[in-house]
Amino acid sequence: MFAYTRLPEKDCRSRTRGRVRNLQQHSLRRPRPLKRRKTMAGLLERDFCSEQALLQHGGKLFIDDKWLDATSGATLDVYDPATGSVIAKVAAGDTEDVDLAVRAARRAFENGAWSKLTPSERGRLLWKIADLLERDAAEFARIESIDNGKPITMAQGDVTLAIDMFRYMAGWATKITGTTTPLSLGFEHHSFTIREPVGVVGQIIPWNFPLLMAAWKLAPALAAGCTVVLKLAEQTPLTGLKLGELFQEAGCPAGAVNIISGFGETAGAAIAAHPGIDKVAFTGSTEVGKMIVRAAMGNLKKVTLELGGKSPVIVFNDADLEAASAGAAAGIFYNQGQVCTAGSRLYVHKSAFDRVVADVADTAGKIRLGQGLNPDTQMGPLVSDEQLGRVLGFIGAGQDQGATIVAGGERHGDAGYFVKPTVLTNTSRDMTVVREEIFGPVIVAEPFGDDDLDKIAAIANDTEYGLAASVWTKDISKAHKMARKIKSGTVWVNCHNVYDAALAFGGYKQSGWGREMGEYATQNYTEVKAVTFKL
Ligand code: ADP
Ligand code: MG
Repeated sequence: MFAYTRLPEKDCRSRTRGRVRNLQQHSLRRPRPLKRRKTMAGLLERDFCSEQALLQHGGKLFIDDKWLDATSGATLDVYDPATGSVIAKVAAGDTEDVDLAVRAARRAFENGAWSKLTPSERGRLLWKIADLLERDAAEFARIESIDNGKPITMAQGDVTLAIDMFRYMAGWATKITGTTTPLSLGFEHHSFTIREPVGVVGQIIPWNFPLLMAAWKLAPALAAGCTVVLKLAEQTPLTGLKLGELFQEAGCPAGAVNIISGFGETAGAAIAAHPGIDKVAFTGSTEVGKMIVRAAMGNLKKVTLELGGKSPVIVFNDADLEAASAGAAAGIFYNQGQVCTAGSRLYVHKSAFDRVVADVADTAGKIRLGQGLNPDTQMGPLVSDEQLGRVLGFIGAGQDQGATIVAGGERHGDAGYFVKPTVLTNTSRDMTVVREEIFGPVIVAEPFGDDDLDKIAAIANDTEYGLAASVWTKDISKAHKMARKIKSGTVWVNCHNVYDAALAFGGYKQSGWGREMGEYATQNYTEVKAVTFKL
């Protein structure tokens, strides 16, 4: 029922090790043998992870090719969202640490350690990261599942997409080009454009797809020749820090990639405001996105933003209703609904409304909630206590305003941060559950009675967001027309939550600025220079 079907093979290690070793012979500098260092005592206490040291670097910051404690000595607790217990402590980076990382990134950029590598060498390093990630895929998936709470099969899907992203962007490293431009001048000339790396990039990512978001951010920036300071979400720092180990193993030049765990208000804010950062790329809430823009004004750093959504799912009565119902359920319940493109507003033609809503509610009632590593689990907990409170608050507000709960509507169990998959009807367009991004497994369903596509599109577009939408119909002409009428960066037809490294992704309206993935992502990290010769 969920979108990700491509899962990595059970054990990628034996399959790829030889290949990785061969690649290492051509590494940029001598790769370090990976020390199987012991993890911090008690770093991850649960018995399901004691078989292996999960973080060889002990939860430290990766700055200038070194593993450092936060300058302040502060740490932050990492929770298992299935139980609410602390499973790890990692360094809580702050302004001083961001500054150290920015200086290291600046050196790697200005001295050419990274920016002056040949495009082919940069591509090869990204490809190597993909190979190492593939080798360690099972371990990354396991850590992601523990840290975020998501079911292990979903975590495996995330790792596969992260690998794809590094490989895809490895290819772009050698294909970032300019144009030759004929000008309307009265003399002989030669004019062309060059695309140059924008410089030192700050990147801030959320907790819903921790490793995948790191890949979406790092891969295009590095392909373009930028150096990076990446800040992980405080809720889910484990796989991002572990990715630092792979950059080190691959022989990445010191300072090209710096990875920091820390809080948004401190480390994140320091990145957004830092005068030594040329560009900031942010994925997270629209509220914080606006703060990033304000903070970036100081040195007018370039900004791209991938923000919230309230994506409509529009089901016509000529659709394959079984597929549409399953797609609507997967569209909202995938990743516990903690997806910026979650199909959180369901609009169904009135003649099919009862059937589709009944199907979605039926699916909601059957979803098996549980701890992510349990192979039977179909939905894990929400990421945090805060998120649990937020989502339950929205459901309560919807009820107070007159919505009807036809599935879920409450917490599941009393340990961990589980919320039952929830379906609400009898909503109206001014309710908070309809207007605001809930970021949880909550869908609102409303019938439409009109066959006027403009009126249906107006309902779908009645939101400050514009990230994604899906249209379900067998009528090709109707699908094409709707795809053009909807104001969002992505429109899916007869599917939802389909991503690919090659496919542009981003938002209209308050869902963001710019596009990630595909060739568009490389443009985020390059400046265009026009050079003109009088001959
Ligand atoms: P959520 O509230 O769902 O956690 P956020 O937008 O707050 O979503 O978080 C996304 C990312 O933004 C995280 O890495 C977080 O630490 C960071 N962040 C939060 N507040 C700020 C801020 N004021 N400045 C910069 N980054 C921030
Ligand atoms: Mg926040």
